[in-house]
Amino acid sequence: MKAFALLALPLLLGSCKYAYKNREADLVVHNAQIFTMDGAGTKQTAMAIKDGRILELGPEFQILNRYRAKKTIDLGTKAVYPGFIDGHGHFLGYGLNKQKVNLAGAKSWGEVLRRVQAHAAAHPGTGWLLGRGWDQNLWPGREYPVNDSLNLFFPDRPVLLQRVDGHAAIVNQQALDRAGLDAAANIEGGLLAKQNGKLTGLLLDNAVSAFQKIFDDADEATKRQAVLDAQRDCLAAGLTMVCDAGLDAGTIDLLKRMQAEGTLQIRIYAMLADDSANFKAYAAGPFISERLVVRAVKCYADGALGSRGALLLQPYNDDPAAGHGLQLARREHFVQVARWCKENGFQMATHCIGDSANRLLLGVYGEVLGGTNDLRWRIEHAQCMDTADFHLFGKYNIIPSMQPTHATSDMGWAVDRLGPARLANAYALKRLMRQNGMIALGTDFPVEGIDPLMTFYAATVRKNAEGQPADGFQMADALSREEALRGMTVWNALATFTETDLGSLEVGKKADFTVVDRDLMGVSEDLLKRAAITATFIGGEQVWPLR
Ligand SMILES: [Zn+2]
Repeated sequence: MKAFALLALPLLLGSCKYAYKNREADLVVHNAQIFTMDGAGTKQTAMAIKDGRILELGPEFQILNRYRAKKTIDLGTKAVYPGFIDGHGHFLGYGLNKQKVNLAGAKSWGEVLRRVQAHAAAHPGTGWLLGRGWDQNLWPGREYPVNDSLNLFFPDRPVLLQRVDGHAAIVNQQALDRAGLDAAANIEGGLLAKQNGKLTGLLLDNAVSAFQKIFDDADEATKRQAVLDAQRDCLAAGLTMVCDAGLDAGTIDLLKRMQAEGTLQIRIYAMLADDSANFKAYAAGPFISERLVVRAVKCYADGALGSRGALLLQPYNDDPAAGHGLQLARREHFVQVARWCKENGFQMATHCIGDSANRLLLGVYGEVLGGTNDLRWRIEHAQCMDTADFHLFGKYNIIPSMQPTHATSDMGWAVDRLGPARLANAYALKRLMRQNGMIALGTDFPVEGIDPLMTFYAATVRKNAEGQPADGFQMADALSREEALRGMTVWNALATFTETDLGSLEVGKKADFTVVDRDLMGVSEDLLKRAAITATFIGGEQVWPLR
C-alpha cells in the first residue's frame, strides 16, 4: 500500500493542472478577509492579480501554491472590499475649495468675517476673495447674513462666500457691481434677497449660478492643482471611483489630458453639466475610457432644504413666506434634456430635493422613458418624497442616488423646514432601495465629508459622528450592512454602467479594492465608528499610501 502511494504521487502531481507555482501574477494578496460582493456574497482569503485584473480568488494555500508573483502582500487578516465608489460628489469643486477660505464650522457671522479678513491679509491684491462652507444653522439666531460688513471691509475687492450646500451665497457690493446685478435684477429659478428695497448680497440657487463663470474660468494650473488635491484625499479615503455630478466639457478635456499623462489615477464618472455647449461637445455620444467615463447629464430641478430652495408641494413649515421653494428650470426644459439623453445614449441624473421636484422629474422621466427599461436614469438625493410617488422609481427603473450623511447632518433642523409628517417620508433609504432592489450611495462632497466609512455608518446606524441620536434617526429607513456595502460598491457600478469591470471582486474584473483595518460587516457599532482605511488599490496598483 505504502509503495503504491509513493509511486502514484508523481503521477498525480504531473497530471495536476496547477503544478506548484507554475502561474505568474503581478500581485498576490493573502491572509486577508476578502468580501468579494459577488452574487453569492463569497468570502475568500487570497487573490492573484495580473495586468490590473483578478486572475483568481481562493483559499490561502491554493493561491500561494499556484502563483509566482512579482509582489506578495500579507494583509495580516485585514478586510478587503471592492474599491469604494462615491455615487455623487463634486470632485473638482472639492479640490477648488481647498484654495478658498474654509468657512466650515464657523459658529457666527463674525467668525466668518474674521476668517475672510485673515485670508485677505495673507493673500493681498484685488482679485476675487472666495470662501465656502458657512452655515447659518450653526449661528445664534440662525439668520441669513447681510453684506454691510463685507462692503465696509472690502470696498474694492469682490467677495463671494458660498453656503455649505453651494445653493446659497453672500456677495459684497463690488461683486454685485461686477456681475451687473442691482435691485431690479430678476433671475429665473433664483433669488436676490432684499431689505428695504436694497440688495443684501444674499443669493439663492440660480442667482449663485450667475457667478459660475468665476469658477469655470479658473485657469488650468488652478484646476490641475484642484484635481490632484481632490485625488489625494479621495484615494486616502479608500475611494477608487467618484461620480462628479456636473462638469463642463473644458474641465473634462483637462481630465482627458491628465489621463493621457498618467497623472489621473482615480476613476471618474463625469456627468455633463446641463448646458448647451456641453451637449454640443458630446453630440457624438458617450466617452468611455480606462479612468474616465462621460455618459451622464446632470440637471438641477430645485435648490436645497437648508437654504429653503427645495421645491415642496406645500409651503415651508418654518417660513411660509419662502413659499414652495424654487424650481430651477421649466418642465419643458427637462423634457428637452431627457429627449436629448435618450437619443444620444446618455443617462439623465437630476438633483431633486423637495417632494414637488421629485414628482416633477419622475413625471418627466416616465413620459420620456415610457416604462420598463435599462437606461438607469437617476434621481440625485431623492430627499423628500410624497408617499404617492415612491412606486414611480420601480415603475420606470429609476435609480435613487442618495447620501446617508445628509440625513444625519440635516436631522437637527429638517423638522423645522418640513414638519414631522413630511420628515417621516424624507431620507427614506430603505423604501427607495426596495423599489428596484438597489440604491447608489455617495456623500455629495464637499457638502458633506468625503469619508465612505461615514456613509456606511450613517446608512446603517443612522447617527452622526457624535453618535447622536442615541436610538438612530428614523431607523425604519436604515440599510443593513450588506445593503450599505453594495450601495458603495456593486450598486454604484450598476449606476455607472461599469459593473462588468468594477463593483465586486471576481475573476476577470479590474483589481480595484480597499483595505480596511476591521471587518465592517461583523464588528460592534462602537468599533465600526473607529474603522480606518489601510490601503487603496486601483487596477492592481497600490495608490495609497504610496511607498
Ligand atoms: Zn451635488
